[in-house]
Amino acid sequence: MPMQCPKCYGEMETVSSDSTDSLHIDRCHQCQGLYFNQLTRADMGMLSEQVSLDTGDESVGAEYDDMVYVECPKCHGIMDQRMVEAPNRIRFELCPSCYSSFLDAGELRLYLSEGYREEFESLLPEL
Ligand SMILES: [Zn+2]
Ligand SMILES: [Zn+2]
Repeated sequence: MPMQCPKCYGEMETVSSDSTDSLHIDRCHQCQGLYFNQLTRADMGMLSEQVSLDTGDESVGAEYDDMVYVECPKCHGIMDQRMVEAPNRIRFELCPSCYSSFLDAGELRLYLSEGYREEFESLLPEL
């Protein structure tokens, strides 16, 4: 059974997994959001190589950005909203129990760009 998107309940497809199988990235067919089975500061280097997976339209992603009470697809807890408002607005879901994470379409591209990257990294958990 394919995984279900925690935001729009569309079908998700695995678009990246490394050889050790520790990190998976799934993308939603509907909202094009990206789900990471785990996302910590240690993954920042690897993330830069995965920006091209963020193929969705940021206007679609923005429709889902405000959603709260997003259920973690992995452990079924409620995911935390990690956010800052200034100087740039960053907001994404991170599960406090298993550190899996969900980024709306366009957010990975944006958060890895100049001016966002450092703050995004500071919002990720340190293992
Ligand atoms: Zn979706
Ligand atoms: Zn979880």
